Amino acid sequence: MLEQFEAQYMELHWHYNQILWNHYFNEGHDDLNQIDEKIYQLVSHFKDKIKNKNRKSLIANLIIAKNLVEKDKDVSRLRNKLDEWNNYNQSIPSHLSINEKKEIIAKRMRQDVLHLMELRNRKSIDMGYKSYPDLIMTHDELDLQKVICLLKKYLDANLSYTKELIKKYNFCLDTWFQDLNKLKTNISYQPYELTKRFIQSLGFQSFRVNIDVKPSKILGMASNLGENDIRINLNAIHSLSDVSTLFHELGHALYYYYIEEKGLYQVLPPSLDEVTAVIVETIAPIVLLHEEEMNKIEDIRTLEHTRIAISALFEFELWNNPQHAEALYKQYYEQLGIPVKTPSIWAIDSFRSIDPVYIHHYVLGATLGDEIKGFFIKHYQHDYKLYGKWLVKNIFQKGRKMRIPELLSRFNL
Ligand SMILES: [Zn+2]
Repeated sequence: MLEQFEAQYMELHWHYNQILWNHYFNEGHDDLNQIDEKIYQLVSHFKDKIKNKNRKSLIANLIIAKNLVEKDKDVSRLRNKLDEWNNYNQSIPSHLSINEKKEIIAKRMRQDVLHLMELRNRKSIDMGYKSYPDLIMTHDELDLQKVICLLKKYLDANLSYTKELIKKYNFCLDTWFQDLNKLKTNISYQPYELTKRFIQSLGFQSFRVNIDVKPSKILGMASNLGENDIRINLNAIHSLSDVSTLFHELGHALYYYYIEEKGLYQVLPPSLDEVTAVIVETIAPIVLLHEEEMNKIEDIRTLEHTRIAISALFEFELWNNPQHAEALYKQYYEQLGIPVKTPSIWAIDSFRSIDPVYIHHYVLGATLGDEIKGFFIKHYQHDYKLYGKWLVKNIFQKGRKMRIPELLSRFNL
């Protein structure tokens, strides 16, 4: 039974990744609802049929449970509707500023985002979970209270320095991502050259990835479209923040390439996939950049991960109190020391609808990344090939056979 499910699910998994890639980068017009429906049919068929007798069968049942909610017809249709801004941006006066336009779109999305949260929550509760966040945490093999504790710890350690940076560079929430480019460099970086140097330094000579540098609304994305078809799409590098994005996407791609395990072990939960990408993103600057650039990238990452820790804590509270979204948004984000002028903007954030209960992984990755970086410097100094070997042996090659708590407890987290 497990083997049947695994074979059929993997076929759909690769197919889904291909359709999603075409949807974002090749203007593909495949219907996402259709592939979602196929996945739903498959997981419905195998519900309660696979006995939990080993790690792979446990993973199969976690995948089945998550997809029974996520690929449910009502959930998937609303999610895919929210993923397409054209459903919300019609007849907006063209003379308005980008932020004014965003505010209008957010207000139009609000009802759908709340409805989607309610649907996900209700369906998770029907299946015996406490809530949708409980379903996702169970799927990702994380403990919600522990995650909240790590987020708060990160915030305690970094908030006051982040506020200094916000003042120094005059950051606003409305222009946050443009403001990150204020941490500048005079060096011009080429993505292919950086990738080549990184791969060589860490001893990853056999690594193969297809990198496309072209503009898209997504800053960067890596995906595995099938056995040995690993791709990265990036915007051109104009800033240190873009350099960090390249390192991040390389982290995903390296992980996909070096997984030795097959089948369901290749279907990575975000708790492994995203965390690992951030670990690589943390380590790459010490291998590739001069001290000044390295420090600036560290500052960019601190700004980002502090904002993200706030975003994640806001979200966990939002699941308890969805009707108070605007007041909560203001309360949480004003911790950054900058006024929140348009709290309605919360609804436009794709981490509230397309990838909910997800964003905390970046902070877990930053926390683990710092620990692993310290461990590398202490034990391997500048012998970067040993960094590469450690990553392959302790993370990449195991795929989902490894549980994230194993990695966290190894570093006393
Ligand atoms: Zn990522």
